[in-house]
Parts: sequence; C-alpha cells; structure tokens
Amino acid sequence: MSADPKCYDIFVIGGGINGCGIARDAVGRGYSVYLAEMNDLASGTSSWSTKLIHGGLRYLEYYEFRLVREALMEREVLWRMAPHIIWPLRFVLPYHKGMRPAWLLRLGLFLYDHIGGRKDLPATRVLDLRSDEAGKPLKRELKKAFEYSDCWVNDARLVVLNARDAADRGAIVKTRSKVVAADRGADTWTITIEDTISGAREQVVAKLVVNAAGPWVDAVLTDALGRNDARNVRLVKGSHIVVTRKFAHERAYFFQNADGRIFFAIPYEGDFTLIGTTDQDHDGEPGDIDISDEEIDYLCEGASTYFVEPVTRDDIVWTYSGIRPLYDDGASKAQEATRDYVLKPDGGETSAPLLNIFGGKITTYRRLAESMLSLIEARLGRKGRPWTAGATLPGGDFSALGYCEQVRALAAEFPFLGDKLCERYVRLYGTLARRLVGSAASLEDLGRDFGASLYEAEVRYLVENEWAVTADDILWRRTKLGLTTSKEQRAELDAYLSQARG
Ligand code: FAD
Repeated sequence: MSADPKCYDIFVIGGGINGCGIARDAVGRGYSVYLAEMNDLASGTSSWSTKLIHGGLRYLEYYEFRLVREALMEREVLWRMAPHIIWPLRFVLPYHKGMRPAWLLRLGLFLYDHIGGRKDLPATRVLDLRSDEAGKPLKRELKKAFEYSDCWVNDARLVVLNARDAADRGAIVKTRSKVVAADRGADTWTITIEDTISGAREQVVAKLVVNAAGPWVDAVLTDALGRNDARNVRLVKGSHIVVTRKFAHERAYFFQNADGRIFFAIPYEGDFTLIGTTDQDHDGEPGDIDISDEEIDYLCEGASTYFVEPVTRDDIVWTYSGIRPLYDDGASKAQEATRDYVLKPDGGETSAPLLNIFGGKITTYRRLAESMLSLIEARLGRKGRPWTAGATLPGGDFSALGYCEQVRALAAEFPFLGDKLCERYVRLYGTLARRLVGSAASLEDLGRDFGASLYEAEVRYLVENEWAVTADDILWRRTKLGLTTSKEQRAELDAYLSQARG
C-alpha cells in the first residue's frame, strides 16, 4: 500500500455537490484539501435531481421558513456564479378547485416574491389560460394559473465545476477512489482509499474528515469507521420520466396530483419534457435503484390529468431515479421529511474531528459549505473568510443576462461550428468553450465524430479537465448526449476511452 507523505487539513469523503462545494470553499480559504469519490463525480444523488434552484413553495406548508428563505436568496447568487449552467425558469401553476385554496397559493407566492432578495427574477403574475400560450397544451377546464420564477440548473455540471475550481486552487480530487477505512488518532486521521478500477490501496493522513457521502453517509460511518449506531438519514427514492416534448414554449408546469403531492413538467434538452418526481421510502443499497412500474403509472396518470394529449409509456425515452438522503426527523410520510440540512460534529476534543452532513439540497449547497466551514474553522483555526458568493465557477465569467451574446461571439469566432453546436458548448462550458475548440478551423479539426455532435476534441477536453473516464461519464453527466446517441455509438466511445486509458 502506498502512502501520501503530506498531512492534509481536510479530507472530504464524497464527490457530490456537498463534498465538492465544501472542498472548493475550504481550499479557497487556504486549507489543504483531499477529496475522494468512489465512482464518478455527481454519480450519486447530485445528478438525479429535478434540477431546480428553488425556494420550494411546498416547504412553506411545513413552516420551513429558514430553509425557503435561504434557498430563495441563493437563486440569484448561483445564477450569477454560473450563468452558463443556471438560468431563470418561469413556472405555470394551473389553478383548479381540487387543489390547495387560492388564498394559500397567493400567500405562498407573495412570500416567495418578497422574502428571498429577488432582484432580476420577474415577479409572480396571474395568467388567463384561455388566451395565454401556456394554456394551449392543457385541458380546457383549466382557466387560470399563477406564474412565478425559480431557476434551472445542470446539476451534474455544477458538481464538476465546483471540483474543477477546487482543483485549480490546489485541492486534490480523486475519482474512482473509495474510502474503505478511516482510523482515528488523537490529532489526525489515517484514511485508506481503494482505487475501484485497479484495486490498489493508498493511505492519506488528514487533521479533519468531512463525511459528505450523501445517501451512503451512514454506510461510511458503519463500514469505514466501524460504527454500529448509524441511522441518521431516511432514504427516499424519487424518479423522473423523460418523454418526447409535450409543449412548444419554454416555461415549466407545476402540477398538483389528487393525493396532494406536487410534480413538475419541464422543458428538457431541447426535444424533451422532464416529468417528476415521486417520493418512496427506500430500503437497501442507494446505488441499486430503478423506477418502478407503479412510479411510471403515477407520473403518466398525473401528467395526463392536465395535458390534452395524454402522457403514455410509449412517450418515454429515458427514466432516472435518485435517493434523497433526508435527515431522519421522524416524519410519518416521505414527502413530509425535512429537506433542510443538519451538520453533526463528532469528536474533536480528545480525538481528530469528524463532521457529518445529513440532508440538504443542491440549491443550498453553497450555504451548507459556508456553515461547514464555520465548524471547520472552530476546530482547525481560521484561515480565510467566506468568499464564494461573488466568485464565478469555471466558464461562468460573463454577465448573467449575456448568454445570447456568448453564443453569438462563439459563432462569429468559429463559424464552422454552426448555431446549434455553439449553443450546446456555451450551455455546458461557457467561456471555456474556446479552450475546447482550440485552434480548430473546421469540424474535421475537432477530430473523430462519435455522433450526436460529439467530437474527439470535446471527449479529450472532458478526460483532461473534468475527470471523465467512461462513456457514461461523458454521455450522461458531463453532457446529456446519451439521449440522442445509439447503443453502437456508446460502445464505440467506450472502446475509444478504454484504449486511450491504455
Ligand atoms: P451525493 O450527490 O449522493 O454525493 C455523495 C457521494 O459520495 C456520491 O457520489 C458517492 O459515490 C460518494 N461516496 C459514498 N460513499 C463513498 C466512499 N466510501 N468513498 C468515496 N466516496 C463515497 N435539490 C435541489 O436543490 N433541487 C431539486 O430540484 C432537487 N430535486 C431532487 C429530486 C430527486 C429525485 C432527488 C433524489 C433529490 C433532489 N434534490 C434536489 C436534492 C439533491 O439532489 C441532494 O440533496 C444532493 O444532490 C445531495 O448531494 P450530496 O453531495 O449530499 O450527495
């Protein structure tokens, strides 16, 4: 077994949004940081979300005012930090008698507009669905709707860009590296990591460990730390279906089902509509999940009560499921369990400190990292100050309202790319699209064509800069080209990547 000779300040377990967000914040304050992810970055819950940066209108019903306010405030902060992968989205909430009373919705939306520091996001308005385009795909009996603002996020890329920025600032980020043991001493931890491809083991020493393993947080406590009392999170599965596009406009729908649960129908990757989610308690390994027939029926039936054209199984092009690692607050129903995060310190007086994360949302990851840094500073001594609010993520160094300008500038510089590819590159890489294209003067210069507009130059960029190893990393997390590539194209890409790995 090899050993890293350095003693790091902080060792982070887990390359989801929380682990990467903490690593970035910590290294930017001057701490030395080592992060280990057992699979790919964002391969856990962080790429399976509904992809909303949102206050969470329904959490107001559970009096989660602290969480909603913090989340609302984050919308514009995150949008400015990464305007390529985060952008405003308007939500149409059709109103009918079977749902929550109109006064309650009005009150919720009033709070939404006024407690969250909204500056550039447009305010709530009332729509007449008989004349507004948003009414067209909906059943005729729906006449009125509320329209409000939240933001959309490319969740998997938010994780990778936090990791990239952390690494650019000096953090060690290792993927395919599973923490198999963590031995605690009086002042330091000795962590054993296993390379999940080669099986090789390495030891790393650190002063403090952050357990950001999401749905595996209790498994890490049990398996790597030898605890037998770890039952902190409630695992709640949520599934989505991706169907052929159900409406032409760019707004999303917020629907309420007959059981009172809400779900969304969102424009997705140009040609598709994303519908979800469900809430089902999950028992067992968090990585071993799939959408059930019952969930598919639930989502198809729910959407069909609103759309004129029913949503059927034949419309489905892809499904995905994720596990919410919710802090177990003893709520009776899965959808009632708190979405707030809980940070629990362990040790630190006479033994090296461990800080566990239970729960949390993508929306609040930056604030969670700041709270975690306060706990770290109390244990390791202060090294810097909160800094992430105004600091753009890689490729996001352009005005929040300047997306179209970016696309136009890229198309002017590289006319051979065409508008569609320019848009795709700017949405994924922002100003770094130029680095990807490099000195290419034609599509041929971008190298081998893997289909669906994926060229070798992009593959190489992702391998060299974004820890991509397999075809799935590239087709489902760094991009969503998996939706438009064939089985043969995916196999070809995998063969190319394994040959490149040697
Ligand atoms: P994860 O992303 O799961 O990261 C944990 C990582 O730890 C994993 O990558 C895992 O591989 C790694 N790991 C585990 N064990 C080890 C080990 N031993 N060694 C090394 N690495 C290890 N939030 C929002 O804000 N907006 C939404 O719209 C939204 N929608 C959601 C919809 C669904 C269906 C679900 C499930 C969640 C949704 N969320 C949403 C919540 C959000 O996705 C999660 O709270 C967030 O992604 C959790 O991030 P994390 O970093 O804690 O966990």
